[in-house]
Amino acid sequence: MKVTKSKLDRTQVQYLKQHQELYGDTIYVSESEENSNELNDLDQFKNEISSCNLCPLGETRTNFVFGSGNSNADIVFVGEAPGEKEDLQGVPFVGRSGKLLDKMLEAINLDRESVFIVNVLKCRPPKNRVPLPSEVELCEQYLKKQLEIINPKLIVTLGRISSITLLKSKESLSNLREKIHLYEGIDLLATYHPAVLLRNPNLKRPAWDDFKVIRDKYLK
Ligand code: URA
Repeated sequence: MKVTKSKLDRTQVQYLKQHQELYGDTIYVSESEENSNELNDLDQFKNEISSCNLCPLGETRTNFVFGSGNSNADIVFVGEAPGEKEDLQGVPFVGRSGKLLDKMLEAINLDRESVFIVNVLKCRPPKNRVPLPSEVELCEQYLKKQLEIINPKLIVTLGRISSITLLKSKESLSNLREKIHLYEGIDLLATYHPAVLLRNPNLKRPAWDDFKVIRDKYLK
């Protein structure tokens, strides 16, 4: 924390005297983000990488989509790559898939403010095509660093791309589901991508089973 020395003005002195009369010698100092000008490590990292041009997607993006939510989250959800709406707004999962993800979070008493949501790729692939291995290879370091900073209790990978990227596996998603894996000592649960659930509603039931595991094992 940065410490600066400054003289108190009369109002501040009066306030502190009044405070002492009322509450004695104990003072409570808020450390909330609103009262601090300091950037947390995640915000700092965002500033460092937001102008990235490591791959050609840097040329075509509207916004770099860093990720959003609680930087102290116990649970991080990892998607694939920004789509059109995400690219325009600079926020992950704000389109149709995002609306479904919101509902799934709500069903287990979570919301966007209590978790962190991020993608493997930070920039939109043209026409939402599947990320190229070369793009994943270059961008993955950012996701890894984000996970290192947040250090959650659980990572939930949404879909095959984020699951195989973090688990370094070539298995199908169905083989990766229904177990708790370990990523750098952090529990990792692989489930369906919301976009797949929109195309194939039959998969909503097994996806709900995965979310019940999150609720029952990781939420008090
Ligand atoms: N699909 C993803 O994987 N991520 C988003 O942010 C939006 C759609």
